[in-house]
Amino acid sequence: MPSGREAGGSMTKPVPFLVGGERVQGSAGSFDSVNPATGTVNYAVSAAGASDVERCVSIAREASRTPSWKGLHPHERAQILARIADGIRARSEGLAAIQMRENGKVMAECRAQVASAAATFRYYASVCETLGSEVTPARGDYLSLTVYEPMGVVAAITPWNSPLTMEAQKIAPAIAAGNAVIVKPSEVTPTAAIEVAAIALEAGLPPGILNVITGTGRDTGVPLVRHPGVRMVSFTGGTETGRAIGTIAAERLIPVALELGGKSPNIVFADADLEAAVDGVVGGIFEGSGQSCVAGSRLFVQRTALDAVLARLKDHAEALRVGVPDAAGVRMGPLASFPHREKVEAYVASARAEGGEILVGGGRPDDTALAGGAFYRPTVITGLTNAARACREEIFGPVLCVLPFDDEDDLVAQANDSSYGLACGIWTSDYRRALRVAGAIEAGTVWINTYKQLSIATPFGGFKDSGIGREKGVSGMRLYQQSKSIYLGLDERVMGAGR
Ligand code: NDP
Repeated sequence: MPSGREAGGSMTKPVPFLVGGERVQGSAGSFDSVNPATGTVNYAVSAAGASDVERCVSIAREASRTPSWKGLHPHERAQILARIADGIRARSEGLAAIQMRENGKVMAECRAQVASAAATFRYYASVCETLGSEVTPARGDYLSLTVYEPMGVVAAITPWNSPLTMEAQKIAPAIAAGNAVIVKPSEVTPTAAIEVAAIALEAGLPPGILNVITGTGRDTGVPLVRHPGVRMVSFTGGTETGRAIGTIAAERLIPVALELGGKSPNIVFADADLEAAVDGVVGGIFEGSGQSCVAGSRLFVQRTALDAVLARLKDHAEALRVGVPDAAGVRMGPLASFPHREKVEAYVASARAEGGEILVGGGRPDDTALAGGAFYRPTVITGLTNAARACREEIFGPVLCVLPFDDEDDLVAQANDSSYGLACGIWTSDYRRALRVAGAIEAGTVWINTYKQLSIATPFGGFKDSGIGREKGVSGMRLYQQSKSIYLGLDERVMGAGR
């Protein structure tokens, strides 16, 4: 459990970060972790500055080259990964509570995300142990092999919405691939990664292979991405930050994986099971208070079913219980921070100004017991066109914009008229149409008659401004490796001699 300045308690040292297996106080002061459900300070957290980044990269680089790590066989790395999975499961309640306290997600979802993080380590233990090198087809008297080697030091920069799963999604494959990793979590959710790194040490991961440095994007993230010892950056977060990181990576000629924002269309045809569809639409936007990259934030409804869908949507959205994240029956906790709520409020104001009508929500809850937290009601807006700001930009909150369509061509044109291309949902009883539309939509993931179903075994990533690269799946480990081709001459004559 993090130690530091407890809410209402006496001053203690800020929560240290973890470098080279040791707890470290940073050189850039500290920042407060705030509980968004109450507005109280959880603890102060130590901030890493440029000198800490320098030291951390040097330690990680050294660790990545030592025989105790480099010399491990894949099955030995796999054993460590499996033990990390066990360690995460054993600390399930504590880890879930940290995430809930820092980003306000409901406890049930936090628990599910701990289970998902553990499963991710277990999955990459299997991938690591079973994925082989290749013997490539020979075109002469030689044997040619393709083997896969780690990048070296990988920087993993993560957001605040689902730190446990997103950090596991980067750490597990990068370690399985033989790298050393430096995690820079969001300053909103700084400590879950520190706890996971401590679990990894107990599981036998050599010190320096998994490091966590906490601090701001500007003071900690930028020097990390710029550091010549970092050989790859894996980032999840906003598109503008991703673009800035991608620009530095391009200058440095290092690979990047960018998992960015979305403005995903969730599409309901009139022939769909409307009850199931509305259930999926509501979960797709309001789960996690809409703070999900794959949130289905644009709802396209075939005009003939519009009234029936809106009536159901109103009922379902109004029935969602908003409240403190560990109370029974609560489906929506607060937004992750107070500044973020202001951003969401500004988007809803812009929608009103552009002619939007609020069908549900549109403000903070009336319940005075929730007045101290960053709560916002589930909100459904009608009467906008796809050109409105609220339909074009990622709000990352519990705000759904409803847009009618007339036919398939009209729908596909509207759905694809977005700079984003992360995900899409299609609800219909006609599987031919479902597959036709799935093929026409520009998105990295398409769900048919379901939404937000995600598997660690299935690649994930975005089209267009939603990102570059695919995480997860077997290829998710290859993302953190570079191939090397080796030729073994079989002709006794030296190549070229006498030819
Ligand atoms: P950011 O993209 O700003 O932050 C994500 C991570 O990057 C954080 O760890 C952040 O640090 C760090 N960071 C910020 N700037 C830089 C930089 N120049 N160089 C290196 N690292 C940097 O996301 P926010 O948390 O501010 O959220 C902004 C928006 O991004 C959201 O409203 C949403 O639209 C989108 N988003 C998308 C997510 C997704 O899953 N695709 C997840 C989260 C957000 P720190 O926070 O400490 O400053």
